[in-house]
Amino acid sequence: KKYVYYFGDGKAEGTSNMKELLGGKGAGLAEMTNLGISVPPGFTISTEACVEYYKLGKKYPPGMWEAALQALKRIERSMGMGFGDPERPLLVSVRSGARASMPGMMDTVLNVGLTTKTVEGLAAKTRNDRFAQDSYRRFVSMFGSIVMGVPREHFEAILKHKKTEVGVAHETHLDARHLRELVASFKALVKEETKKDFPDEPLEQLRMAISAVFSSWFGARAITYRRLYGIPDAWGTAVNVVAMVFGNMGETSGTGVAFTRSPSSGEKTFFGECLMNAQGEDVVAGIRTPLPVNALAKNVPEAYKDLEHTYKKLEKHYRDMLDLEFTIQEGKLYMLQTRVGKRTGIAAVKIAVDMVKEGAITRQEAVQRIGADQLAQYLYPIFDTKEESKANPLGKGLPAGPGAAAGKIALTPDRAVDMKAAGTRVVLVRQETSPDDIHGMNAAAGFLTARGGMTSHAAVVARQMGKVCVAGCESVEVLDAQTVKIGAKTFREGDYLSINGSTGNVYEGDIPVVESEIIQVIQGKLDPRKSDKFQRFATILSWADSFRTLRVRANADVPEQANIARGFGAEGIGLCRTEHMFFAEDRITIMQKMILARTKEEREKFLDQLLPLQKQDFIGLYREMQGFPVTIRLLDPPLHEFLPKREELMVEIAQLELTGGDGAKLEEKRRLLARVEELHEFNPMLGLRGCRLGITMPEITRMQARAIMEAACELAKEGKKIVPEIMIPLVGMVSEMKSQKDLVREVAQETMKRYNVKLSYFVGTMIELPRAAVTADRIAEEAEFFSFGTNDLTQTTFGFSRDDAAKFIDHYKTVNVMESDPFAVLDREGVGALMKQAISAGRKTRPQIKLGICGEHGGDPSSVEFCHELGLDYVSCSPYRVPIARLAAAHAAL
Ligand code: ADP
Ligand code: MG
Ligand code: MG
Repeated sequence: KKYVYYFGDGKAEGTSNMKELLGGKGAGLAEMTNLGISVPPGFTISTEACVEYYKLGKKYPPGMWEAALQALKRIERSMGMGFGDPERPLLVSVRSGARASMPGMMDTVLNVGLTTKTVEGLAAKTRNDRFAQDSYRRFVSMFGSIVMGVPREHFEAILKHKKTEVGVAHETHLDARHLRELVASFKALVKEETKKDFPDEPLEQLRMAISAVFSSWFGARAITYRRLYGIPDAWGTAVNVVAMVFGNMGETSGTGVAFTRSPSSGEKTFFGECLMNAQGEDVVAGIRTPLPVNALAKNVPEAYKDLEHTYKKLEKHYRDMLDLEFTIQEGKLYMLQTRVGKRTGIAAVKIAVDMVKEGAITRQEAVQRIGADQLAQYLYPIFDTKEESKANPLGKGLPAGPGAAAGKIALTPDRAVDMKAAGTRVVLVRQETSPDDIHGMNAAAGFLTARGGMTSHAAVVARQMGKVCVAGCESVEVLDAQTVKIGAKTFREGDYLSINGSTGNVYEGDIPVVESEIIQVIQGKLDPRKSDKFQRFATILSWADSFRTLRVRANADVPEQANIARGFGAEGIGLCRTEHMFFAEDRITIMQKMILARTKEEREKFLDQLLPLQKQDFIGLYREMQGFPVTIRLLDPPLHEFLPKREELMVEIAQLELTGGDGAKLEEKRRLLARVEELHEFNPMLGLRGCRLGITMPEITRMQARAIMEAACELAKEGKKIVPEIMIPLVGMVSEMKSQKDLVREVAQETMKRYNVKLSYFVGTMIELPRAAVTADRIAEEAEFFSFGTNDLTQTTFGFSRDDAAKFIDHYKTVNVMESDPFAVLDREGVGALMKQAISAGRKTRPQIKLGICGEHGGDPSSVEFCHELGLDYVSCSPYRVPIARLAAAHAAL
């Protein structure tokens, strides 16, 4: 079996299509080599080898090492050097590279092949002793920590101590002798910590480094990262062994990273960062804040020209925004990595729309390139411009993750997690972040770092998580775990801080935020022509619409929500929960009186008062939806939800008794308490609710049906076409459906006669109980449409209480009993199977039956995809998820 793929001298055994086998990095190196771009020669050990390695109990698969040695020979020939040759020593880097990029999650070792002998050869050959020693001390610390497991901080402490001892601020000011001493101290450290000598044999180093990269796939950081992003453990990582080129050979050498367009805004400008006289990880680790890439134009003009030429060629070839890593050795450019660049949602849309205009990609590709969830970033709040202009900036860093975040300062990731758990908005402030901070970054609304550029760890993670980030803000200095200095001011953990990730500004205090531009346009507060953001957002969605077949409706209860839903492009209301209308202040008291009524007549009196209010609600909704369908669900929740809590009433009564006040009020409260106790249920979720209410108290259904029909009739008289869809909740038996439907029909006929209007209307049901799904053929005899209420259906299928399950679902996830929360991502295996059954049974009885879903899942991309596969007519989700559902529906169709 072939485990090793060589690249060099303008020809590679791999290509960009072989990502699964070669990993992203290996495929990119191969492709660049084939394109004739200057890449140092090397070889890739495939991900299959890594998988085999684990299968064999951490042993190389047969033949792999031999093939690697042969490929190493080819590198030697290509470079005219020898691995371990004391005169002309070849050095290599050993780099991890999985299929998906996992920033900073796995390990890379540079300068492999340096030994007590070869370091002297390197010095002699380059006539640069300082450079050779600098490379060696880097190697010993990297190899010592990554491969031999000595904590990195130990090396850093020694380095720091050395700098203080010599009296220099920066390590570039250490001379060859200091560096030599460092190497000796580092080796002594390794010996002390591991009881082993630092390996001085190049092939042994190589072997150990390759094993270490394989092993890093199951390192704690990599595992956490994979869980977070759903990357399977089974993929494994490839290993790239690449001839070293040196960015630390002096002032005409350097290293850098670049993006062909801005990864945070999507602007079409070449964007990058570099450090002169530096090697590899210095830029990414954020040790020094780098220079902008065009600084190269002055320092090394030839190399810069070459870089410009190369990035254009690559972007054209890949037809996407790319992320590049390069090194310049004494004025000559070498490319070390390329891949499709990670970007914010804001940038993703801009780049996609621009590239369609440039003719580089099709509309379909543009739509496919944007993650549905990424669109949510367009809706994130921004600072109120007035308030922001009043605030005094404490400093300015790089705008690494757009948006606004204000919250209390946390200075360690653990604190950020605790504060978030206590319900606090958190801004994480760090000198620089590292992969070990991931949990804290996840908990924070945004992060601010003192050091590092647009490609520092903090910036990369922010773009991926969609968090607000200001990176490399020089005026920040973290003093200790409780205090940080920003500009002239000192802050303590828990103080308020505001950061603007679109401009890089940092402010004291808690600046209020306002709606995003998109929402302002939708609310009519901003002219759409004045918002480029809105234009792009609308463009991509209109393209998405041209591909999708699934309709998207919204769950909206009041006209304001319906208005927003329409603004986001909802094609109807899939669920109007009428109970929400009764909670409004002017209505809850009437509602309570209605519930307290002792007789049917008394109850009807209060229902009569509610009727005109409900009718107005529906008229408002119908007007907003301009002829799009509106599905109205009859009252669902248990009645006690409208009454005060038992404990509260008891306290009030006790107080009234004590003070001997208002007798009438006391009497009323006692009556209320008695009714509350009467209505008390042990398990309200499974109690008197849904159609059970309407069947026990038909006057409620009657009032609601009348309000719906009267609203429709009145608008019909205005010449508007309304087709009411009336939905009966929590039906389990066809008899329940029939009983409610007959009632609705009777009221509808009577109302239309009264208005002298003829309307078509539908009476359907939610499918939210397993019994309904299983007997859907019967239920469809009465129901004219089905809407899957997947919140309750999930609850009743699993027997999980929606309000109590979070605790154990979280635990289930950590111990791998469950992959995801079924209330967030539809459970295809169980709930999905019931849906399938209900669909085919429903269609058997009523072939044209309209089918939708109105649970929370309607706005979750993977659930939308499933609904498309099931052949539903529409999904209905919260108004703010409508754009996401539109895009997800397009993805499902493509
Ligand atoms: P990561 O996956 O974390 O980006 P890489 O394997 O790309 O890790 O290595 C990090 C950096 O190390 C690279 O960006 C590059 O600057 C440097 N590097 C890697 N291989 C070489 C090499 N052969 N010559 C010079 N620098 C290298
Ligand atoms: Mg790495
Ligand atoms: Mg890299």
